[in-house]
Amino acid sequence: MQLKTILNRVEPFKSFVYGKVKWVEGRARPTLEVAVQARKNSRAICSGCDQPRPGYDRLPERRFEFVPLWGIAVYFVYALRRVDCPTCGVTVERVPWAQGKCHLTTSYRWFLARWAKRLPWDEVAGIFCTTWRSVYESVKHAVFWGILHRDLDHIEAIGVDEIQWQKGQNYLTLVYQIEEGMKRLLWVAEGRTEESLRGFFRFLTAEARQSIRFVCSDMWQAYLNVVAEYLPHVIHVLDRFHIMKKMNDAIDKVRRGEAARLKHDGYEPVLKHSRWCLLKRRENLTEKQTVKLTELLKYNLQSVRSHLLREDFQRFWEYVSPTWAGKFLDQWCVRTMRSKIEPMKEVARSLREHRDLILNWFRARGMVSSGSVEGLNNKCKVTTRKSYGFRTYKVIELALYHTLGKLPEPKFTHKFC
Ligand SMILES: [Zn+2]
Repeated sequence: MQLKTILNRVEPFKSFVYGKVKWVEGRARPTLEVAVQARKNSRAICSGCDQPRPGYDRLPERRFEFVPLWGIAVYFVYALRRVDCPTCGVTVERVPWAQGKCHLTTSYRWFLARWAKRLPWDEVAGIFCTTWRSVYESVKHAVFWGILHRDLDHIEAIGVDEIQWQKGQNYLTLVYQIEEGMKRLLWVAEGRTEESLRGFFRFLTAEARQSIRFVCSDMWQAYLNVVAEYLPHVIHVLDRFHIMKKMNDAIDKVRRGEAARLKHDGYEPVLKHSRWCLLKRRENLTEKQTVKLTELLKYNLQSVRSHLLREDFQRFWEYVSPTWAGKFLDQWCVRTMRSKIEPMKEVARSLREHRDLILNWFRARGMVSSGSVEGLNNKCKVTTRKSYGFRTYKVIELALYHTLGKLPEPKFTHKFC
């Protein structure tokens, strides 16, 4: 079987044929060149209007890099024709294997983009002896194609979230679709302002906005405002993940403040190795640990009490009726407001303020898949920490869409990877 025959199976063209295949001597890397010719009597297609037009002249031969074979670089070699188009003037013809001035064939771009989903981009460039730039451009091409061809109609539930990046210096606003069976990243924007989120709603058609019935977000006021502005008809849920995150942040603040205070007062050892004393049941404690627990309890640490308040709050999520959940919430807030622990009181105040949105959790139960915001949030964090060779917003944005956007791809005759 000849290489030409294989190429006709994996990458067939209607108006072009494969010609001679040549082993190129003297290259650092083993290289094959495949000549491509236009079929006899076929007319060139104008790249401006996609119509067959009369020929004008021919440009010098160009090489287009194709998917490598057995570690051998493969190039298509073709001299592009120019056409004399009555509508567009003299233009370069459109060829089916590449786009515009790109020196990579479209199949090779998709090949690199697919590998870039699995491996760091600089690693992909190294393995296939190409540049980081080529991998980046390939991913960009795949993401643009996917965004252009994805279906955004009939989205019912979305989650709005923010993550920190660049060592916490900056925020990204993220919008996910969070339905059972369809969880994907829909939108990435810099910052966490109203403008960051507005971009997404402006991007949607009016019908697509109308089909959204549930929105999950945290208590960030900018997001609450924009959701109210664009989606007045939805059930807006402050979801479990964001509320518990807020509470954990508060507990962390209490613990840090307390540790600093104890250190300052010369009681530093008290909090050391105390975790097990708190977690073990009293009858299982060793004598030494019992002393420690007594010591700990004597201090009546705010960290311990905050921890207990959070444990107690977990019961909230077990309610079925919004009414009873609401009663529990009110009681919990009263207890917390009496605790004299400022960061926890802060949480209680904000829960009170957003009481209705929080109770929407029970109204939307079963409609939004619980835990999906949390799952996607974790995946996004992992993605932003991975190495892509460069750490600019543009690169992170592409990487996020590429790995989490579930973007569609065109149909190919052959899948190269
Ligand atoms: Zn034209």
